[in-house]
Amino acid sequence: MLRYFPFILLVSACVILTTMAFLWVREWEEERLLTAFHRTASDQVLALQHKIESTLDHLNSLGAFYAASREVTRENFRVFVTPVINKNKTIQALEWIPKVPAEKRAVYQLRVREKGHPNFEFRERKPGGGMKRAGKREVYYPVYFVEPLAGNEKAFGFDLGSESTRLAALEEAVNTGQMVISGRITLVQETGSQFGFLVFLPVYNKQRSLNTVRERKENLAGFVLGVFRMGDLVRASFPQTSEKPELEFFIFDLFAPKQRQLLFPGLSKEILADELKFDLQFNQTIKIGNREWLVVIGQSGGGFYHKILSQSWLVLFFGLLFSGTLGAYLKVNLNRQFQIESTVRQRTEELTNVLSDLFDANESLQESEQRIRSVHDTVSDGIITIDEQGLIESINPAVEMIFGYTQQELLGKNVSILMPDPDRSKHGQYLERYMNTGEARVIGIGREVTGLRKDSSTFPLDLSIGEIRLGETRLFTGVVRDITERKKVEQMKNEFIAVVSHELRTPLTSILGSLEILKTGVVGDLGEEAMMIVNISFQSSQRLVRLINDILDIEKLESKKSDLVLEPFDLPAMVKVVIESSLGFGEKEGVSFAFRNYIEGVRVNGDRDKLMQVLTNLLSNAAKFSPPGSEVEVSILRKEGNIRVAVKDRGIGIPEDFHARIFQKFSQVDSTDTRGKGGTGLGLAICKTIMEKHNGSIGFDSKTGRGSTFYFDLPEAG
Ligand code: ADP
Repeated sequence: MLRYFPFILLVSACVILTTMAFLWVREWEEERLLTAFHRTASDQVLALQHKIESTLDHLNSLGAFYAASREVTRENFRVFVTPVINKNKTIQALEWIPKVPAEKRAVYQLRVREKGHPNFEFRERKPGGGMKRAGKREVYYPVYFVEPLAGNEKAFGFDLGSESTRLAALEEAVNTGQMVISGRITLVQETGSQFGFLVFLPVYNKQRSLNTVRERKENLAGFVLGVFRMGDLVRASFPQTSEKPELEFFIFDLFAPKQRQLLFPGLSKEILADELKFDLQFNQTIKIGNREWLVVIGQSGGGFYHKILSQSWLVLFFGLLFSGTLGAYLKVNLNRQFQIESTVRQRTEELTNVLSDLFDANESLQESEQRIRSVHDTVSDGIITIDEQGLIESINPAVEMIFGYTQQELLGKNVSILMPDPDRSKHGQYLERYMNTGEARVIGIGREVTGLRKDSSTFPLDLSIGEIRLGETRLFTGVVRDITERKKVEQMKNEFIAVVSHELRTPLTSILGSLEILKTGVVGDLGEEAMMIVNISFQSSQRLVRLINDILDIEKLESKKSDLVLEPFDLPAMVKVVIESSLGFGEKEGVSFAFRNYIEGVRVNGDRDKLMQVLTNLLSNAAKFSPPGSEVEVSILRKEGNIRVAVKDRGIGIPEDFHARIFQKFSQVDSTDTRGKGGTGLGLAICKTIMEKHNGSIGFDSKTGRGSTFYFDLPEAG
């Protein structure tokens, strides 16, 4: 929440500023409107007052006209007032009201009747509305002249003295000797709901003293009377009212009794000035003749506040909108920023974890590396790492011991420096071939090779090479073991065995010869029992001779005493000879040999006799471990650029766990199937040695119970 503080602060500041601006604009607006309202209202009151006053002036001039004239006839009156009335639409009528004592009533009435108004008479209002003939009074104040007559016919003849308001006004006029304005009245000619008022100007008989009320009463000739309708007056005063329909006008006559004060507008319901409450209100009292009027101009809130709304609310609206938009924008940005921050924090945490893991891993890596290094440094086998070009990348101390070079002398050198010819010159080729074809001579296989020391001496060594891939690069690690000592011991052992065998073979041969003579019976009949013993001895001696021959054979092969004579020869022909000579023991085992698939006349380079020995051995094994009646199949085929001779039997097969040991000396499968088959366990070892001497190879495919295929490969001659 705390991180949102600046955001909240900013948005709050915006909202506060907006509110302040709103209030300020509203106040300003209000003030402006109020001032404008007051100005308008006071202007209008002034206009009203002005209008009334100017109208009253006309009345005064009519009074002066009367005062100046000896007698005013109906015609004179019309001529004088018509232009005034035409100019002032606010004047409902101008009238002459004579003071008629009761005895002159008939004369007055007659005069008018003679003037073309036959029904003229003094009248008064009926209590229920309408007019009737005026009752008997001492004095009458009838409407005698009235201009214009049209529209005012009802007033013609009306006795003003018959009605209290009018009577009060005209009496007051006499009493004061002034122009008097009546309280509100409903005009007799009124057709609508307007109120009206009358203005009385007393006219006296000439050259008489008028100083006292009595004098004035006695000399009163009549009244000049102005008839006004409030509505017409207000409308004429405020021509602009139609443009400001929201303004309301009320005019009250303050001298009238409470319940009769409302002058304008004409309402059926009485309203008191105190009851008026407007949002904007302007009250002003004006003096109209002898009376005081209260003008109330009011404006109801709706229109007024609507105006304020139009500006200050706009300020508020846009201010809040701006604050909102700003807030939303900032919020989005802040959120994004927080998100980024949290992502960064998370990543940093992860990184820290990874780093500490790495650190831990590094520690244990260092530890294990140290362990590996100490193994690497102390092991008696030499370890050499080379790159794809054959350049030495690293060696361990044992390499220095074995080859007599220092580390500095070897690093970056081609590894062929450690080999005598022909390997030395061909090493690059071997490596290249392996890179391109994956065809390995040593890699992943391991073999015995010859090493070359710094002092140019050579020595036998066991070499095994492994391949390491580090991303795109390949490295080769060679483990070398100096086997000079082992070889020496082996040599001594072999020589010993050879000597022993040799020494044994001469007497054994003579024993075998002697036993054969005994068997033939040349020296006499031995009897059944002795014959049996002689036979066993003969067979054992034969086995012994075979064993000794095998031992001597292998010893001869392994010591370089027998160098093979490699010559090209016709391979199928050789195979046929071997099959021919093997028919004998094949028959003995009940097994036949077939030679069907072969490449006619194919020639290989090799020691023919030794290869015959290899094939003979393979055929003999196949026959030995095949069921009677089965067939052993010999074939010659091309395999990976070499010529392969394969011997396939359908015998017992070779158990999986024996595969690795089958070519070792004296190894035989230990099972009831193989026991009693004779043999020395040296046959395949001899075969392997012979094939190695040929730079060829020997191998087999087998499945227990389904038979085996033994084969050897040789390069084709030419
Ligand atoms: P041996 O003189 O005992 O035959 P070898 O070296 O020729 O000696 O063979 C070693 C052993 O390999 C045999 O004793 C036998 O157990 C097994 N062996 C060799 N060839 C075959 C074959 N074709 N089928 C089954 N087992 C065989």
